[in-house]
Amino acid sequence: MLGTMHAWQAVQRGHEVVHIEREAEARGASVRNFGLIWVSGRAAGEELATALRARALWEEIGTAVPGLGFRANGSLTAVTTDAELAVARQASARPDAADRGLRLLTPDEARAANPALRGTLLGALACDRDAAVEPRTAQRALQDALLRSGRYAFLGGREARDVVDTAGGPAVRDDRGETHGGDAVVLCTGAHLGGLVRELAPRLPVRRVRLQMMQTAPLGEPLTTSVADADSFRYYPAYSGTALDAMAAAQAQPPAAAEHRMQLLMVQRADGGLTIGDTHEYAEPFAFDVDEAPYEHLAAVAEALLGRPLPPVRRRWAGVYAQCADTTRVVHRERLGDGIRLVTGPGGRGSAPAADG
Ligand SMILES: Cc1cc2nc3c(=O)[nH]c(=O)nc-3n(C[C@H](O)[C@H](O)[C@H](O)COP(=O)(O)OP(=O)(O)OC[C@H]3O[C@@H](n4cnc5c(N)ncnc54)[C@H](O)[C@@H]3O)c2cc1C
Repeated sequence: MLGTMHAWQAVQRGHEVVHIEREAEARGASVRNFGLIWVSGRAAGEELATALRARALWEEIGTAVPGLGFRANGSLTAVTTDAELAVARQASARPDAADRGLRLLTPDEARAANPALRGTLLGALACDRDAAVEPRTAQRALQDALLRSGRYAFLGGREARDVVDTAGGPAVRDDRGETHGGDAVVLCTGAHLGGLVRELAPRLPVRRVRLQMMQTAPLGEPLTTSVADADSFRYYPAYSGTALDAMAAAQAQPPAAAEHRMQLLMVQRADGGLTIGDTHEYAEPFAFDVDEAPYEHLAAVAEALLGRPLPPVRRRWAGVYAQCADTTRVVHRERLGDGIRLVTGPGGRGSAPAADG
């Protein structure tokens, strides 16, 4: 998505773009994610400002490209204990709560906003600025629109192997031996940190994180907002404070949730199914299989909030994103030469423990 969005911005400005992708079509973190445009939990300052700017861009581009599936659906973080309610109350009273669109809702107000939440709730923290897109189809929709500009070419199934300086400017050599020249080269290689990227930037301050996800059959009713559980308070930096400290002291996560560093995030897809996650694995080598225990935990939490059984699970998968090791930075940008830039590491703005990796 980083590469596709750079292409979008360049084409909008009248440039021509050649987009080189190792896979036949996108298979990276951007098609495996929730599609959540998440403002609510962002750290105050640069990170929140960037999230709000990104949300505005998604909305603007989503208007031009309906296939992106942009919707301003907002989110509810459901709270079920007094300690969780105190965290939600503290967050909704912060000076930047209005910028984030945060409001504390009673159980009746939460159910009015999202009638599918029939489980036992003490309330919910609503975020009106949170939004969503359709990750499995968004890139293709953008690429189709880019192709119609006549200034964009997508070369799938080609790996960038070298970036070279030529008299005419920087150029990329691919694994078919072809060279593609231009005024600028932007490398958006996601969590692929070896090969070309290691040669060009051997000490990249970026680490990799693996997540497990699942998707159900259609729910049979709308889930009008995205939904998080209160474990997301532990994860996102916006919620740190005395109430969160008290919550962490008062209630431990269940063992599976603690072991896999989990929170519940749940969003409805265009077909009515629910994308549900997630786990966080920091230590490499990553598991090559998906582990069942986290799914059992997620299903139990989701069913408790919905007050009904989940539809059958249709898909399970894992994905890996790159995260800036310096969590005060939103993304890692590095100049590798004249007109050559590497951009990676926008994933995982949560408070992942540094000791893990
Ligand atoms: C399971 C999961 C859930 C997530 N949920 C969310 C969410 O809801 N909201 C959110 O904002 N973020 C989320 N994230 C993070 C987000 O998905 C990533 O930060 C983002 O997708 C990164 O985009 P990218 O373009 O840098 O990487 P990618 O999407 O991984 O793309 C990198 C591309 O570069 C290609 N490539 C690499 N090396 C080469 C080469 N040498 N030559 C040619 N091509 C190459 C790869 O094949 C790949 O297609 C999630 C991540 C995961 C894994």
